[in-house]
Amino acid sequence: MNREFKIRDEIILPGETKHLDFFISRLPTGTVINMPVIVGRSKRQGPTLLLSAGMHGDEINGVEIVRRIVKERLFVPKRGSVICIPIVNTLGFINFSRENSGGKDVNRSFPGTQTGSLASQIAYFLSSEILPLIDCGIDFHTGGNRINNFPQIRTVFNHAPSLELARVFSAPYTLNAPLRDKSLRKHALSFEKPILVYEAGESMRLRKHSVDVGVNGALRVMKHLGMRDEAPTPRIPSTSLKKSVWVRAKRSGMHHSVVRYGSEVSVNDVIGHITDPYGKSQIVVKSPSNGHIIAINNLPIINRGDALFHLGFENDD
Ligand SMILES: [Zn+2]
Repeated sequence: MNREFKIRDEIILPGETKHLDFFISRLPTGTVINMPVIVGRSKRQGPTLLLSAGMHGDEINGVEIVRRIVKERLFVPKRGSVICIPIVNTLGFINFSRENSGGKDVNRSFPGTQTGSLASQIAYFLSSEILPLIDCGIDFHTGGNRINNFPQIRTVFNHAPSLELARVFSAPYTLNAPLRDKSLRKHALSFEKPILVYEAGESMRLRKHSVDVGVNGALRVMKHLGMRDEAPTPRIPSTSLKKSVWVRAKRSGMHHSVVRYGSEVSVNDVIGHITDPYGKSQIVVKSPSNGHIIAINNLPIINRGDALFHLGFENDD
């Protein structure tokens, strides 16, 4: 028997599709902050999948992925239910900002409280109203702060159901990424609800490739959960990466990367140059080991210690 869904006072019955809008809080001006939630339910019993984005307001590839899934009605399942939240952090979205009010990171605010900061109230709404309804989810992100991520799923390899969903999604990279305290992913997993984190592209820049890979991965997860019959086959097999490190700048200056993100590099390959702005000096940036360039910092002016390249490894050592 499919139970009825209740989100606050809204009832969503099996077979119903609803576009809902939930009050979260008020800004100092009295302006209301809402969270739009779109729910598609089949009459046939099945699991419930969460598709969320915009936790970081400037990470718009994720927003576009969920928007496309809603617009093309891909969220209406053959069985089970899909809950779509295109923008978790609406204030960050309209401010072109990762953070919420007061510089708070919604994804470091879980489980949140009803009386806390706006970020905490958003987290509380998800923890108390949405997480109890779902079995699993995909949270769509985009590289923050000019970091350009090659499409990748982040999950924990030592949790079998999470790893299985990640393999089904089949992004070009599947990265074992430790759980972060107070994140949605860690909080949900404490209730045995796996949430994949998808990362692709760069904040405030829409990339069709990042969006297409995200939509197609979500469709594969939906097919796996029995929610649809068809899903696109991945163009390339996913490369599993057991760990990753950041290659950081050894001096300040202007950074010129000379590798493509998504490429494989060998130890001591030159992957970038750091110059001064005056034409006097230049140093090379070398890869510290064999690996995959899973992200590049596109910010051309960098300080010593800044992250330049995210390097992923197929092996632990
Ligand atoms: Zn993010």
